[in-house]
Order: sequence, then C-alpha cells, then structure tokens
Amino acid sequence: MANGGPVEHGYPHLDTVRAAITALYKRLTYDTIRTFETSVMPVDVAFSDQDDLHLGAQRVARELVRHYRLPDARMIVSFREMTHAANVELAAGPEYFVELNDRFRTHRQDIGAALAHEVMHVYLHRLDLSFPGTRDNEILTDTATTYLGAGWLLLDAYREDGASSQKLGYLTPEEFGYVLAKRALLFGEDPAIWFTSPQAYTAYTKGMAQARHDAQQPPLTAAGWAGRRRYAKDRRYAQDHSTPGPHPGVPYSFTPADRGPLRVSFPCPTCHQRIRVPVRGRVRARCGLCRTVLECDT
Ligand SMILES: [Zn+2]
Ligand SMILES: [Zn+2]
Repeated sequence: MANGGPVEHGYPHLDTVRAAITALYKRLTYDTIRTFETSVMPVDVAFSDQDDLHLGAQRVARELVRHYRLPDARMIVSFREMTHAANVELAAGPEYFVELNDRFRTHRQDIGAALAHEVMHVYLHRLDLSFPGTRDNEILTDTATTYLGAGWLLLDAYREDGASSQKLGYLTPEEFGYVLAKRALLFGEDPAIWFTSPQAYTAYTKGMAQARHDAQQPPLTAAGWAGRRRYAKDRRYAQDHSTPGPHPGVPYSFTPADRGPLRVSFPCPTCHQRIRVPVRGRVRARCGLCRTVLECDT
C-alpha cells in the first residue's frame, strides 16, 4: 500500500475500477457478492489510544478476517519504519505477516483502513484473482475492499486540513466514493453516516453522482434527453451503413447491420459486463452476471 505524495483527484483509473467489479462478479458469482450485504461497522474496528497497540491491531485484523470469511487465516501484525504504508507477505498461510508503517502507532484510527486493504490482498490471493501489473492489481484490491464492505474505512482515512493531507490506497477519493456508491445502490446502504472526515463525505457525494450517471446512459430508459437524441442519431447511422460509425465518448456500440438484425451492446450499469440486445424499441433485459433487470429503449 502506497504512502504520501500529493493527493490525486478525479477518475484516472475508472476503466480498471470497472473491470475489477466485473472480475469480482465473475470470480465470486452473484450469490457470494450478496453475502457481503453488511459492511464492517465502525465499532468493530474502533481503536482508542488507551488500547494496547499490538493486541488492538490483532483484534482489528481478526475482525477483517471474519468479515471476509477467511477460514483459519491468521494475521500477525507488526510495526516498522518503512516507505510504504503497509505490506503483507502472500505465502501459503494459514499465517500471514502484515507490516504496518510506524506512523500508525500514533494514527491508530487508520489501522482498520490499512488492514482492510492488506487482508483483502490475502482474500484475493486465496481466490487466485489478480490483475497483471502492480498498479492494476492494487486498484483491484482497493475496489474489492470497497465493494465487499470494508473500503469506506480507506476513504474515511482521507483528510485534508490546511497544510497537511493524508490518503491511503491507490484509488482517488472520488473513485473510492464511486465504488462505495455502487455498493450503496446495490444493497440500499448509506455509508455516509460512518464518515468522520468531511473530505470523505464530499468525495462520496461526487462518486455517487458518477455512479448514478452509469444508470442514465442510453439505451437504458433512464437516459436523459440529450443522450437519447445522440443515441437515435448513432442508431440511424448504424442502420444505414454496413460498418457502424465510431461513437467516441458513448458506452454503447451497434453490431454491423450486415450481420443480421441490428443489435446494440452496452455495459451493465451494475457490474459493467457488456449486454447485447436487439434494436426493436422497448426491451427488458437481465444481466446474466449480476442479475440486474435493465429497462431499455433501443
Ligand atoms: Zn496493496
Ligand atoms: Zn450486470
């Protein structure tokens, strides 16, 4: 887990974040995702300055192991001076050695956030789910942590006050907010009540707008007027030409008209798996991966 540097904003990793959500559904299936309906609660990972440092860190780690349902995994947490925020050794188990940066000795309220990410590394390791390259794999880890109910801790560790700022994880605050919002929309949850950081709350609000935007793209019936107009124009072009025109900046694409009846494909707003439906007016489709029912006007 990285540490320090200026805080990046916006959505520079959005494609990888979405690919990570799709990969989670594919590897875990809908049924397992549904078992993560309850998030890690603030009381479960609370850590006061009166608590014993090592016993407290072990207790929080155990709580995360329980949350992710990692049978017989045992985290051995230690502190040392290091450039990174935290690190975990991915061995055969059942014991895993987690190292936390010395600064957590005096920032105990963020130990839960650091451990949420590191224990997720163990979870994904056991699932044998990874993305190639460190950057993408860390984005997968942050996305999985957040989608499965522990990542609000990472976003809440993002704080800015005048001269100083701190943030954990590889996603930007807005991207954490986005994944958290996707989770909130799926489970009907309101994570905003757990935030202690005002900046986390702002990032969550922005992420929620982005997440809602996913469900307002044509051909979904919830699309806005401008989107629908553009869609109708692109569809007309696809109907008249054997090669569909390039549609930069829109998530849908039409299959070439010379390959049978016209069809449109677009990403599922929940899991981002691509769905394909015939172009014939009102169509109700169901995503095979996450089971979301999609009302379309094709
Ligand atoms: Zn990591
Ligand atoms: Zn889906």
